[in-house]
Amino acid sequence: SRVLDNAGSDDERVVEAALRPRRLAEFPGQPRVRDQLDLVLQAAKGRGAAPDHILLSGPPGLGKTTLAMIVAAELERPIRVTSGPAIQHAGDLAAVLSSLDEGEVLFLDEIHRMARAAEEMLYLAMEDFRVDVIVGKGPGATAIPLELPPFTVVGATTRDGLLPAPLRDRFGFTGRLDFYDPADLALILRRSASLLGVEIDHDAVVEIAGRSRGTPRIANRLLRRVRDWAQIHGDGRIDHAAAAAALELFDVDPVGLDRLDRAVLEALCRKYAGGPVGITTLAVAVGEEPDTVETVAEPYLVRQGFLERTPRGRLARPAAWAHLGLTPPASSTA
Ligand code: ATP
Repeated sequence: SRVLDNAGSDDERVVEAALRPRRLAEFPGQPRVRDQLDLVLQAAKGRGAAPDHILLSGPPGLGKTTLAMIVAAELERPIRVTSGPAIQHAGDLAAVLSSLDEGEVLFLDEIHRMARAAEEMLYLAMEDFRVDVIVGKGPGATAIPLELPPFTVVGATTRDGLLPAPLRDRFGFTGRLDFYDPADLALILRRSASLLGVEIDHDAVVEIAGRSRGTPRIANRLLRRVRDWAQIHGDGRIDHAAAAAALELFDVDPVGLDRLDRAVLEALCRKYAGGPVGITTLAVAVGEEPDTVETVAEPYLVRQGFLERTPRGRLARPAAWAHLGLTPPASSTA
């Protein structure tokens, strides 16, 4: 439950729903994906046809679910929501597909985690709008083809490299979401603050945006914690002092590193002179599982240029030394 975790819990998703933009025109950031999607949807609408299937890829919390819902809203069609892990058998998928209405949007979150057995059924359904329903068992089993009305799959994945090529090929359009720049996060924060009914000043917006790791989900979460702080310690209005105090309380430093991130950098620089050091050794030094260090702390540290993964182990980059206020050893290769 780190305040900087970019995967939302189930409870949080309920709170988040109120902050989702509903239409493309009110979706800040990702200008390229937005323009591409706008074209695909407008053109399909103009033809009165279902658009190509759409794949959205990118790290958690950047707006894939939000965009899937926007696709349905722009097409003025209903949306059916399911996810890869919920489809463990071909039958699970057959049940969903055979109940779709014409033009409906089928949102398949975490599509890379769908059972293999269902994948082939999905290929056929996406390409020919047909499923083969198997009746009976063993040698007497027969496949009865069932025609489906045209529909649009919106698939979301954090790892498009994990999708089998035949599945990837069935998406006519792939939108790759990237981390947001601070100006777009600022727009998102202002919009969220207004939906939450809290006053926030410019400096506070800038402060929270700078600590949100390029991720709207984190920005909105930090905003809620700062709002709590302003409610308890102030008059409810959020100014720079409130933002800085609340974020310090939650251990989020000015560049968006938390305690674990800093512990990793401290261990790397102070204990191992900047590395290279193996992930297991580094994890022991901070009292965490290697997997946690690798998946939770490292991606952001690497992206921000604090840490480098090399075949010989983890290496501190100059930015890490500077951030900790340390001087790298003269012989350091970093
Ligand atoms: P996951 O992979 O974990 O499902 P996701 O990419 O589907 O994440 P969303 O659930 O769409 O992300 O977004 C997370 C939260 O961030 C939501 O509250 C949503 O409102 C907000 N959000 C995401 N993108 C934007 C945006 N461009 N503008 C405003 N809010 C956004």
